[in-house]
Amino acid sequence: MSSAKLSLSLLDRITRVIGDSHDFRGTVDNIVSLVKEEMQTDVCSLYLYDEEKNLLILVATKGLDASAIGKVEMKPSEGLTGLVYESMTPLVVQDAHEHPRYRYFPVTREEKLKTFLGVPLISRRSAIGVLVIQDRQNRTYSTQELHLFNTIAGQVAGVVVNARLLRELTARSPDTPLLPEPERSALVLRGTPATPGIAMGPAAIMEVYEDFHYIIEEHTDDPEGQKRKFREAAEAGRKEIEELRERVQEQLGEDDAGIFNIHLMMLEDQGFNQKVFELIDSGTTALYAVKSVLAGYLKSFQDIDDQYLKDRAVDIEDVGRRVIRLLSDQSRDGSLHFQEEGILITRLITPSDAAVLSTEMVRGVATSAGGHTSHAIILSRSLGIPCVVGIEELLDIVQPGDYIIVDGNTGNVFINPEKVIVKEYQRLLQDYTRHVVELVSEKDLPAVTLDGFRVELMANVGLLSDLKFIDYYGADGIGLYRTELPFMARSILPTEDEQYRIYRNMVEGARGKMVNIRTLDVGGDKKIPYLSFPTEENPFLGWRSIRMCLEKADIFKTQIRAIMRAARHGPVSILIPMVSTLEEVMGVRRLMEESRVELKSSKVPYSSSVQVGLMIEVPSAALLAGKLASEVDFFSIGTNDLTQYALAVDRNNNRVAHMYDSMNPAILSLIAMTARAAREGGIPIAVCGEIAADPLWTPLLIGMEISVLSMNASSIPLIKRSIRLIRHADCQRAARRALKAGTSAEVRRIMSRFDKMIQAEVVFQPTELH
Ligand code: PEP
Ligand code: MG
Repeated sequence: MSSAKLSLSLLDRITRVIGDSHDFRGTVDNIVSLVKEEMQTDVCSLYLYDEEKNLLILVATKGLDASAIGKVEMKPSEGLTGLVYESMTPLVVQDAHEHPRYRYFPVTREEKLKTFLGVPLISRRSAIGVLVIQDRQNRTYSTQELHLFNTIAGQVAGVVVNARLLRELTARSPDTPLLPEPERSALVLRGTPATPGIAMGPAAIMEVYEDFHYIIEEHTDDPEGQKRKFREAAEAGRKEIEELRERVQEQLGEDDAGIFNIHLMMLEDQGFNQKVFELIDSGTTALYAVKSVLAGYLKSFQDIDDQYLKDRAVDIEDVGRRVIRLLSDQSRDGSLHFQEEGILITRLITPSDAAVLSTEMVRGVATSAGGHTSHAIILSRSLGIPCVVGIEELLDIVQPGDYIIVDGNTGNVFINPEKVIVKEYQRLLQDYTRHVVELVSEKDLPAVTLDGFRVELMANVGLLSDLKFIDYYGADGIGLYRTELPFMARSILPTEDEQYRIYRNMVEGARGKMVNIRTLDVGGDKKIPYLSFPTEENPFLGWRSIRMCLEKADIFKTQIRAIMRAARHGPVSILIPMVSTLEEVMGVRRLMEESRVELKSSKVPYSSSVQVGLMIEVPSAALLAGKLASEVDFFSIGTNDLTQYALAVDRNNNRVAHMYDSMNPAILSLIAMTARAAREGGIPIAVCGEIAADPLWTPLLIGMEISVLSMNASSIPLIKRSIRLIRHADCQRAARRALKAGTSAEVRRIMSRFDKMIQAEVVFQPTELH
């Protein structure tokens, strides 16, 4: 692995260990094991300085005899570790036992170790310990590896300081004041990554009242007056929402703006209005009545298990907050006005907040609540603002002005991080931006291997706003348009005309490039409230996607008709998800024909030159690929689901995430089998799962004769550069060997010679340590 990739994965894993741990010993044990494993060394040990004893003590090791923990002690003036501690600078020594400062401890049984690398743990300009790695071989370390090791030492120093702080705090009597503000030390919190990217800056905290507790019960003897007040507030709210909708429509398009239709509907909802009026009639004020009705709605949403529905509570709260603000005669909500560029820290962002987020002032967002399917997050994604959600303790910990790093790629949020971490991230950000600019400058070069194998690089999209990336990153077309987002952003099924308008915008926006429109792929983790999904024991194996569409033929045919109509405006194909049997393909064909006849008989203009492709994402479809190939025009392998179903590993379950490995030879066989069937059937084949965006997969996929890759548009330049570095013939040879492997590790070993080249030339490398 290159040091850039290594640094990110190791840093991420370490922050995870730190974030998840509650116990100092367990944490440091895990860290030394991780470092040893990832840096492929023979020993990793941690020494801490004990002030009272004036000794450096071994507190954790992986590789030395475990019985040495707590027993190996040395003065700062002794040994190589002492030298690192005293000099407060990193030290690399080969043939360590020949060094004049070398000191031998029999209990460690370390005779055979030749290379020593030690880095001091520094906190507030003094050393508090030393992190050491040792090797049996004489080994050299690159500047980047040294830099990474330094950064890790910075993280470990944070853990040590936190643990000491905690010990100090618990040892105090309850009325001893807490440490003053400047003593607050570095912390890493873990949330759910919602929008990728890195952002850093001072925290700006936006209070969002969860329960409107400040509204107290008041009585009125003028119910009619209160009802009038409520109607006026609702009307003013409606105007504000319409303004917002227009603003979002201009900025991001009609599709995203559709979110606000739900808000308008809620304001006009008879049930909601009725309940408010009833309470007013019973003698309460309009303000209290709205608060009570809202609280009831929110409570029933909280009790729902389904994350998608839970996220909809945000929309209700958004509307309620608006009406309450207007009823309490407050002027426009000023809570989102930033004094300087920074990181927004809040309980949740509502769609209204997201719509007014100024990209110039808000560099990143971290929230304590909110799932990643919430509309606001979908909007923040369109705006490209890095965002991490779901850090429960966030608002208890962060203080205004704390320095924050939001890492939307990993879900880590650093609070007042050590300087080394800030530096590391600044460098990552700068280098990454430079790297992207450089890669993007190559966007017009062809994606062709050194020996002439041509690959088409397509984009995966979900919203109309994604269209702007198509040309920017040089996509050859849209390989996968996930149509469920427009369905999720509404409270009733979009009509045929509405869908037609959305698809037509997408097709016209692609300006002559092919658009593969995937039919509705809902169910599983993507529920749509108005489609009344049943409660199922195993929703991923249940009534979802094409299975639902074949039963609800009206919904399916409405979508097919809208797609056929949009196909008059540019090249379009239909992509069918989650197919598991040949019978389903026959069913799809039949409904498509019916849709065509309906369009024809109602004299609505449409195009019948729409090709049909199948997503191969269920193992049975891969096994049946030979039969399926003669029924359709192309295949697109959805490796995200194929991996989940073939390995029986839930793709959203963290507990089994380590088993979710697409490099398992079983998955390779399914891909190769599908590619062979496509070749023999004379139809094109694509891969549109996440692996298409991973340059380490590129040689394998090319070696298996996959000539179309579809991915998030921003990865296209990276994959293009990888393709231009390799030879098809070498890829074929390596893929043949990989297909005979028994484990993912073996596959990785076989492919490792490509890795080195791709890592060096393609994956971005942080600049050298200054
Ligand atoms: C897949 O399963 O690989 C795929 C591309 O579809 P989705 O991620 O939308 O399920
Ligand atoms: Mg899928």
